[in-house]
Amino acid sequence: MKDSLEFKRRNTWLERERGDIERVSEEYMRFIDGNRTVRRTVEYFIEEAKNFGFTEWNENKKSGKFYVVNKGKSVGFFVMDGDLNEGFNIIVAHIDSPRIDLKPMPLIEDEGFLIAKTRYYGGIKKYQWFSIPLALEGVVYTSDGRIVELSVGFKEEDPVLVIPDLLPHLDKEDMKLSEKFKGESLNPILGTIPAEKSDEKAKNKVKMRILKILKEKYGIVEEDLISAELELVPALEVREVGFDSSLIAAYGHDDRVCAYSAFKALIESKERSRNSIVLLLDREEIGSEGNTGARSRFWYRILRRIVGDNLDELLEKSAVISGDVSAGLNPLFKDVHELNNAPRLGHGVIILRYTGRNGKFGASEARAEFVGKLRILLNENGVIWQAGELGKVDVGGGGTVAKFFAELGMDVVDMGPPVLSMHSPYELLSKADLHETIQAYRVFLEKFS
Ligand code: MN
Ligand code: MN
Repeated sequence: MKDSLEFKRRNTWLERERGDIERVSEEYMRFIDGNRTVRRTVEYFIEEAKNFGFTEWNENKKSGKFYVVNKGKSVGFFVMDGDLNEGFNIIVAHIDSPRIDLKPMPLIEDEGFLIAKTRYYGGIKKYQWFSIPLALEGVVYTSDGRIVELSVGFKEEDPVLVIPDLLPHLDKEDMKLSEKFKGESLNPILGTIPAEKSDEKAKNKVKMRILKILKEKYGIVEEDLISAELELVPALEVREVGFDSSLIAAYGHDDRVCAYSAFKALIESKERSRNSIVLLLDREEIGSEGNTGARSRFWYRILRRIVGDNLDELLEKSAVISGDVSAGLNPLFKDVHELNNAPRLGHGVIILRYTGRNGKFGASEARAEFVGKLRILLNENGVIWQAGELGKVDVGGGGTVAKFFAELGMDVVDMGPPVLSMHSPYELLSKADLHETIQAYRVFLEKFS
């Protein structure tokens, strides 16, 4: 391939065994279906890591396999079995996805309905969240200092929550979609039955009945909701898509597919060219702010303990893959892409040298030497990859966590699979690209130096 004059994208489906692709897809589908919130995803990976011999880090651990949890919402996995002076190979990915959070005082009764007020998290197209089944999951910190886990909508016998849409018969005004669907209207119905024998003049009869249910079921009262994190996520189950079952539809491929691939690569890597770290982070979807996002650098403190004063020098020698999904070419909306640089589903993991918008604003941009070394390594190891860009120059844009690692002097490049319908409740991913993403990450950890 490197001898041919012209670069050609390769179709993974024509080069890989179907069985190999299906094996990783099956396991991934179980993971993506069962882990839709940040906290739950952290718990999943810790349990998995324990099965592979990881233990929780403490001050005395300077080598071996260990993990560090940061406030239950981000986690780092370390395999420290090489020369400390060589620097690190690091893969980072985020485990938060766009969703709808309940407000601190969510309960409002209106015309016989109890509804929940919400504020959405991350970039969503609001109309997509009406009239679909939603699940509510999260934690409540109660007045007596307990943390109560709440989850409704995932089990078959559970009810779901729905934000009601307007019927077409009464929706004939010529308004732009975006003006009609307002963030302040993303309110699911929580109930409609008034409290028994409530007197006619009593207010909030439906609310009182639901509060009773919450008290009985979870031991929580309305004030407890002020110290809660309750998140509405799609209750749609993961499914294969197409007559050829080549795609996977699910909520949260962005970016749990990269988190999953990075973790998988770490535990499956047979040898490692350098000490390896996988960081799974929260809050990327809102700019990586806060003490659990990429700006919080909880992992830095641990490494500092292990390697001491020359950590900054070692980080400058280190390499980072910022694992994140990018927008694949959607045949229905081709005009937002510049076709020569648009990633294609089924054509492997994308090397994205820069993200950002317009004139590369907000992009860290990987240098030629780093991209070159990585490209050669992927070729030598038979990984199917493509190059890409997020969209047409002046159409829009976006960023990843890459820049927060580049700030420390590390070489960083974005690498992940393309998806369709990104940030929607039901994103589409090609099974073939999942396969190549895991391969690419594994080769990086095993051989990059
Ligand atoms: Mn992402
Ligand atoms: Mn995103």
